[in-house]
Amino acid sequence: MLTAPELLEFLPQTDCGQCGMTCADFAGLLLARDLSPADCPVLHEPEYAGFIEALEELLATAPAAGRGMAIDPARCIGCGICVAMCEHHLAQVPEARAGRGPGLGDRVIFRVVNGQVVVVNQELCVRLLQAAEKCSKCAEHCPTEAITLR
Ligand code: SF4
Ligand code: SF4
Ligand code: SF4
Repeated sequence: MLTAPELLEFLPQTDCGQCGMTCADFAGLLLARDLSPADCPVLHEPEYAGFIEALEELLATAPAAGRGMAIDPARCIGCGICVAMCEHHLAQVPEARAGRGPGLGDRVIFRVVNGQVVVVNQELCVRLLQAAEKCSKCAEHCPTEAITLR
């Protein structure tokens, strides 16, 4: 299964911030098909010739994740409760375990960007790593029922 770290190999990895996030988060959104490689302005520079095509080829050969979560942007109010309650974050991200928001460098499943939660590393979800019935905390705690698990 194609993963976000594999896509990250074809991104500049400079975290320049022009896309409003880190390269790792951008890779996660590529995997979720919420962004496309051409959305990274840096990849249009001559130094990265061929990278957009390489990413498009990788994405074309890998099916979109069948299981995971879908966030309804019309319902999400960006409260961050799902980020705070996520089973993976509580187990693997020290900042989240301490009751604080995860840092930009932490490998999280989703984070709040500009008032909306976005899925950046769906492949880390307990539902994908183990089994669908193992976790549904994010959807259970979302106050607006913005999260659909499948
Ligand atoms: S614009 Fe491109 S290089 Fe800059 S942080 Fe986003 S993905 Fe990385
Ligand atoms: S808990 Fe629901 S409303 Fe709050 S950020 Fe997550 S998806 Fe959005
Ligand atoms: S199902 Fe569980 S592990 Fe997956 S994103 Fe939601 S809270 Fe996190």
